Amino acid sequence: LTLLGIESSCDDTGAAVVRGTPGAAQVLSSEVQGQADLHAAFGGVVPEIAARAHAEQLDQVVARALDSAGVTLQEIDAIAVTAGPGLIGGVLSGVMCAKGLSVATGKPLVGVNHLAGHALTPRLTDGTAFPYLMLLVSGGHCQFLLVHGPEQFTRLGGTIDDAPGEAFDKAARLLALPQPGGPAVEACARDGDAKRFRLPRPLLDRPGCDMSFSGLKTALLRERDGLLQDNALRATERADLCAAFQQAVVDVLREKTARALDLYLAEAPATPTIAVAGGVAANTPIRNALTALCAERGVQFTAPPLALCTDNGAMIAYAGLERFAAGQRDDMTLSARPRWPLDKTAPALLGSGK
Ligand code: ATP
Ligand code: FE
Repeated sequence: LTLLGIESSCDDTGAAVVRGTPGAAQVLSSEVQGQADLHAAFGGVVPEIAARAHAEQLDQVVARALDSAGVTLQEIDAIAVTAGPGLIGGVLSGVMCAKGLSVATGKPLVGVNHLAGHALTPRLTDGTAFPYLMLLVSGGHCQFLLVHGPEQFTRLGGTIDDAPGEAFDKAARLLALPQPGGPAVEACARDGDAKRFRLPRPLLDRPGCDMSFSGLKTALLRERDGLLQDNALRATERADLCAAFQQAVVDVLREKTARALDLYLAEAPATPTIAVAGGVAANTPIRNALTALCAERGVQFTAPPLALCTDNGAMIAYAGLERFAAGQRDDMTLSARPRWPLDKTAPALLGSGK
């Protein structure tokens, strides 16, 4: 099977061609056109600007993806597109584009949940077998999922407020570091002493896999204000604050992952595997902590390459391939959904997907 995938739910316009079968597919091309420069002046993604940029760029990005895969639209079996969750204007742009291509070519349309795209990526990159435990950590999401099948997810827990990526970005802002905050904080933390400041480890004293990261930012703000003399933060202080902040995130993720692992292992999976996805999975100390945890517990650890961890069209093409192979298709009634929880049993409160 050969699928074209289209992604436009946030601030990256992605298109890709993926070929193969479930658990054994290859990325023929993956084009991502970022919009960071368009939003930089506003300190965050502006939905209207994003939607317009997607609408303007989609045709070219799709053309580039087909071109670099050496595949024509006629050779595609189906067109997969992110139908949510995300910024509604962007999702709509992608869905309209996919519908247009579907009508023009007569090729079937497959709507994909953006989070399913992230969660199924280890099947694309490593052929990981079901069921596996997925930790999805990005700028907008943080959750533990048991992945039983292409559309069978059980949410074990997640953040009740900010996502870690958001927390890294806010921490960077508080410390006058550039955006995106994650890489900046990680780099700055390298020279820092994580023990100099005692930041909280929210919810660690509570049972379960839920997490909280917004209090960390408040605690960081308090420490920073305590240090501010002559309105400037010294380099060592900034590094120590970054290190303390990052260590707190690492500790929370590691402990909660250990708990999620216990729940997962109770199902006695044949080849126990923990997979991560999302931009925060790029963080080396976080990766190292999870790698060590997996080694201790005799579990495999899988982290897709960064380009497939952050938003991209290949994960959408692949998730579409899984659905399409299972005989699922959508039609012109496919609608864009701003909210779309993966786990249908999750309480409505969690519908934000966080
Ligand atoms: P979502 O996919 O949930 O809608 P998003 O598109 O904002 O959200 P991603 O593109 O997956 O998320 O990831 C971006 C986030 O990852 C940013 O918040 C960024 O700060 C964070 N990030 C990137 N690299 C690192 C790193 N090395 N350490 C920590 N965080 C990082
Ligand atoms: Fe995403």
